Amino acid sequence: MRATNTPRFDNSYARLPEHFYTRQDPQPAPAPKLIRVNHALASHLGFDPGWLESGQGVDFSAGNFVPSGAEPIASVYAGHQFGGWSPQLGDGRALLLGEVIAGDGARYDIQLKGSGRTPYSRGGDGRSPLGPVLREYIISEAMAALGVPTTRALAAASTGEIVARDEPLPGAVLVRVAKSHIRIGTVQYFAARKDKDALVALVAHVIERHYPDAAHAGNPARAMLDYVIAAQAKLVATWQSLGFIHGVMNTDNMLLSGETIDYGPCAFMDSFDVNAVYSSIDRDGRYAYSNQPTIAHWNLAQLTQALLPLLDENEEKALSSGQAAIDAFPKLYMEANNTNMHAKLGLTNNQAGDEALIQNLLELLQAHSVDYTLCFRVLAELANPEQVPKENVRTFFSFPGAFTPWIERWSQRLNEERNNHAASIENMLKVNPVYIPRNHLVAEVIESASRFQDFKPFHTLVDLLGKPYRFDKKTQRFALPPKPDQVVQKTFCGT
Ligand code: AMP
Ligand code: MG
Repeated sequence: MRATNTPRFDNSYARLPEHFYTRQDPQPAPAPKLIRVNHALASHLGFDPGWLESGQGVDFSAGNFVPSGAEPIASVYAGHQFGGWSPQLGDGRALLLGEVIAGDGARYDIQLKGSGRTPYSRGGDGRSPLGPVLREYIISEAMAALGVPTTRALAAASTGEIVARDEPLPGAVLVRVAKSHIRIGTVQYFAARKDKDALVALVAHVIERHYPDAAHAGNPARAMLDYVIAAQAKLVATWQSLGFIHGVMNTDNMLLSGETIDYGPCAFMDSFDVNAVYSSIDRDGRYAYSNQPTIAHWNLAQLTQALLPLLDENEEKALSSGQAAIDAFPKLYMEANNTNMHAKLGLTNNQAGDEALIQNLLELLQAHSVDYTLCFRVLAELANPEQVPKENVRTFFSFPGAFTPWIERWSQRLNEERNNHAASIENMLKVNPVYIPRNHLVAEVIESASRFQDFKPFHTLVDLLGKPYRFDKKTQRFALPPKPDQVVQKTFCGT
């Protein structure tokens, strides 16, 4: 049956060669129930939000109603997981329903996560407990509001089914939206099989979808690689600037589009710690906060390796082209990081001494375990006394005395800006959030929903995180760091 309330599907990935995916229908949920619809995103994509909340719309979100035009597929990929090579992975608990074109002409994947088994499920059930669905909804939407490229949450529905994990848990499905779900691991899958035709087709697809300018380059594959490297450098610099720790930076969790994907054991840190690790499965701290840029570089080296056959017919020339591409990463990352940190501190142009100023602040934060988010927010308020209401973050957060000399130095540096670039100081209030999805808040919300079927705290938190830069005294509780007994030490990938 044709649903008239969905945008038209146009499934370009399903038109790629058959060995890129397996056709697979979602497995119906016994008793679907609406959790939430993302109205703004729905409207942007051309879905009728009211329909998504209707019986048929909820059936759609749970995988019980496949609208005409959708062609559900599970895509195949490979990847390095914690550095170890897995030659075959794939959508084991996700299904790509198809692609829609939004009003702005952009193409988006519509994917169900938790909709049942696929040929790539291996031992898994293809289902998702409610907790990870809520977690992904909250954090991916918070990331979007913070301006980070990310997959999005269009809707969530509970399935009415119990999924067996360490304990029986309620099941749910997330409707995920992405510019595409093509991963470094997708390229690696075909490269490992020496399937050059597939690589050519995949790269052409990625270029058309994400980097159309690369088509006009002397070597389009190399140009695409350059674009991906630049996008990832920017993305990871943005994570660092927000204190976001991804937690599973496996090559199958890195998208060529440069969007953040896979909100498993991720976390925003509270007090600053370069060694912070939250993921329960990251025992050696491979994906610790300060390792993220290095790991991104390593992942991109794997992508480069996989693309070598397309970089040049001549093996030596291919290698030197790949080397040049990957060697650009450290500088691209440093530049992006520098831009972000300057913006956070209200600085525009680069001056001698800025690097030390930034470094010294991070050292102080580390030494005194100061809350990362609140530190920058208070600096923004100090720099903009007129713009902030009386009720502000300074009423409940202050720096340890050891910061005084640093703050004086920064104030002096800022005064040079004040004379020339007042806008960069005002901008501090737009780049330093008050509200982030703190671990203890996310845990609290999941607990209420999973144990007491109370979704009100979930809705409150999602609404609040949609406006992360505006402090409101009434919601001060959500801006506070966790009390010692609220600190969440470990997060779980929720498979
Ligand atoms: P992740 O660690 O979430 O990126 O998942 C790694 C791989 O395990 C992917 O190929 C997933 O499709 C698969 N996987 C994770 N959870 C499940 C599940 N519950 N059922 C089937 N496959 C899963
Ligand atoms: Mg994954």
